[in-house]
Amino acid sequence: MKYSNFMEVTFKALSVNEGFARVCVASFCVQLNPSVDEITDIKTAVSEAVTNCVVHAYPTSVKGDVILRCELEGDLVTITVTDKGVGIKDIEKAREPFYTSKPSAERSGMGFTVMESFMDDVQVLSNSFGTCVKMTKRIQANENEKVG
Ligand code: ATP
Ligand code: MG
Repeated sequence: MKYSNFMEVTFKALSVNEGFARVCVASFCVQLNPSVDEITDIKTAVSEAVTNCVVHAYPTSVKGDVILRCELEGDLVTITVTDKGVGIKDIEKAREPFYTSKPSAERSGMGFTVMESFMDDVQVLSNSFGTCVKMTKRIQANENEKVG
């Protein structure tokens, strides 16, 4: 039978939780014996998705939840980062390299582009009730290389 496992955590959309989210997913994915490069790719993509929830999803001082889920199915990692914030009106535009709705806040508009380059597939679902970013990556068989 194919190996399968999942974990889900919910935390407040605060920048202090970005590091927590990275480490959380990385620790969970270690069971697939990823390479250092693969785990770095996953951490970077998760960081971008969670940062977007922190920066964009909840524009008022009332910060809502971020739900981080990681599913393992064989050698396939599926990560979803979901918020219940304002949503993205034009997803196609938001995904364009260098597009940012916050140029004054020193954002470069490269978050989605980074996610796309480090993961195999990135899907974005969004409406006025929130946003869900679903990312997948296949972990190669790594016989000798292990992350601690
Ligand atoms: P950078 O990631 O380089 O700091 P950025 O966050 O503006 O800049 P992207 O991550 O590519 O760039 O996101 C593009 C745009 O999509 C954002 O400027 C924002 O308008 C919108 N966006 C992204 N994620 C969310 C979200 N979770 N909720 C609402 N809007 C979002
Ligand atoms: Mg971003």
